[in-house]
Amino acid sequence: MRTIGLIGGMSWESSAEYYRIINKEVKNKLGGLHSAKCLLYSVDFDEIERFQAAGDWDQAGERLGNVAFALEKAGADFIVLCTNTMHKVTSHIEEKIQIPILHIADATANQIQKSTIQTVGLLGTSYTMEQDFYKSRIESRGIKVITPTKQERDMINKVIYEELCVGRIRPSSKKYYEEVMNRLVAHGAEGIILGCTEIGLLVQQEDSKVPLFDTTVIHALEAVYLALAHH
Ligand code: GLU
Repeated sequence: MRTIGLIGGMSWESSAEYYRIINKEVKNKLGGLHSAKCLLYSVDFDEIERFQAAGDWDQAGERLGNVAFALEKAGADFIVLCTNTMHKVTSHIEEKIQIPILHIADATANQIQKSTIQTVGLLGTSYTMEQDFYKSRIESRGIKVITPTKQERDMINKVIYEELCVGRIRPSSKKYYEEVMNRLVAHGAEGIILGCTEIGLLVQQEDSKVPLFDTTVIHALEAVYLALAHH
């Protein structure tokens, strides 16, 4: 079994989900007392969020690159960055390490391509919904990505940082997300990417008219498949 190097803490609410899903899946696959070989380096999200807000992606990349390097030195065979947003700095991280990064958007696109879905709605932080680093990676696979309106994106983003990342699950926010998802479906979305690793804490498949692609679950399971590839 390969050792998974997790970069977490962004937020720890979702890192805990990664840890749970990864171990559960290793147990499912291998049975008995088996659990995942993994290293979790959990950062202080307050520091990273300040870099985001200041648009200082170089510093953020530098910081996460050093974390990835530490994981490599500690024996990680590949890196799993437990956030969609910070995939913006993957090339910065890659410069510091020899081991591969399992990209969350690639894992998600693979999953979408297993279905017949051609148009997906994308929910995530404003960075993920508005900037090119994520959408273009999905679209390069021939999948059309649509996003909510500016007003909706602002609200979706606010709920992520002010509620989900600090462990607050509000029924009113769940209802709002459902409304936005319904509007995306009315605009042609045949599936929805939960493109932020905390959204699965708020909405689940039964809340949606179309298939959901929960990036936390997809990414964590892909990490297990990779870890067990030659097992
Ligand atoms: N976990 C979130 C994501 O998947 C947001 C937190 C962050 O900005 O990293 O994008």
